[in-house]
Amino acid sequence: MLKVAKFGGSSVAGAEQFRKVRAIVEADEGRRVVVISAAGKRNGEDHKLTDLLYLIHAHLSYGVSCDEILKTVEDRLLEIQTALNIGTDIRGELAAFRKSLSKSSSADEIVSRGEYFTSKLMAAYLGYAFVDAADCVFFALDGTLDRERTDAAIREALEKHGRIVIPGFYGRLPTGRVRVMSRGGSDITGAIAAAAVGADIYENWTDVSGILMADPRIVPNPAPIGRITFAELRELAFMGASVLHEESVQPVKEKGIPLNIRNTNRPEDPGTMIVESVSDLEKSERFITGIAGRKDFTVLTVNKRAMKLSQSLRQALEIFDRYGVPVEHITLGLDSFALVSSTASLGDAVYDVIAEIKKNCRPDEVLLRENIAMVSAVGRKMSSQPGVSGRLFKALGDEGINIRTIAQGADELAITVGVENKEYEKAIRVLYDSFAG
Ligand code: ASP
Repeated sequence: MLKVAKFGGSSVAGAEQFRKVRAIVEADEGRRVVVISAAGKRNGEDHKLTDLLYLIHAHLSYGVSCDEILKTVEDRLLEIQTALNIGTDIRGELAAFRKSLSKSSSADEIVSRGEYFTSKLMAAYLGYAFVDAADCVFFALDGTLDRERTDAAIREALEKHGRIVIPGFYGRLPTGRVRVMSRGGSDITGAIAAAAVGADIYENWTDVSGILMADPRIVPNPAPIGRITFAELRELAFMGASVLHEESVQPVKEKGIPLNIRNTNRPEDPGTMIVESVSDLEKSERFITGIAGRKDFTVLTVNKRAMKLSQSLRQALEIFDRYGVPVEHITLGLDSFALVSSTASLGDAVYDVIAEIKKNCRPDEVLLRENIAMVSAVGRKMSSQPGVSGRLFKALGDEGINIRTIAQGADELAITVGVENKEYEKAIRVLYDSFAG
């Protein structure tokens, strides 16, 4: 069994977290490739190394002294080294880094050091070989990843050393310069590494016991999701759940490598397993995998007796397109259709869009409804189960929640309803209680 284990910022925030990581890595022989983020926050008032390093770059470029922030960064790292008695010359490297800084230092060069130094410490602490991402994660000149070269380099490093630590979040351009990925990019590095070495599993260690069925700020103590497919994950992310984005884990998805989200602070919890497909629906599994939603949508309803639906719909969609407004949901009736977009993306263009629809589609009327929240119940099991939508609508109706619009994905993976913004939280709680409770 070969596992790639990626540890996020909160999992490596301080010496105590380093200890937990080592216990996790040592508990399983398979965890031979470890990908590390920059040390994150230890508590609410703390700062992520990455944020401090971005601040250092900003100070440098404005010619303001960054001594104090630099010292905070150095202290954080030295504190971990001292507490755990890690035998690596981090002090010397930090001094060289300090000396290298100038007004012209690039943001990427500076910010990538968060992952670099944290990984250096972790590699020495675990007794694993440190493999710099600049030597195994390669970008092409246009900034896209050179997967072939990267895959080969990571495989080679693992073959050579047997157990390796790779810093997440950055790689090297053909010019030799370091380039960082988008924020949270260590997830991508982990996924690339897992795909490169053909891992049996990609573990993503964080500070929650997997993906929760609903937003814990709305539903108290929501149950974690045991298994979820990549397609369901996509639906939940699209609807606003703060979960891993599918694009960031594309390399493992492509290779059919399961992704397991785990909690560094509770390694005994199984976490969430994300897989390409689930063929054996377990009886115990719920009809609904997760519930997510967002507020502040606008619904434009176009009514026209005996219209040519496809023609009017196409015209309306083209108008939205021309104004650069993404349509997120569409509902259809015999003599009407409704287009749902986020109110922010419509902005002031809404009046021009309506005027153009009136001009082009010649409808009987166009109705505008704002302050709508869209709430989705997502679940692969819905398609095989009659009556789920009925139950869902009944649950909302019983609680007096007025459904303003309904959209069901053609793949029957999600049922989405529009409710008033002010009933958003209640709608999520009602759905959770009737399907998960
Ligand atoms: N340290 C980077 C960030 O804060 C990347 C990561 O943690 O994945 O975004």
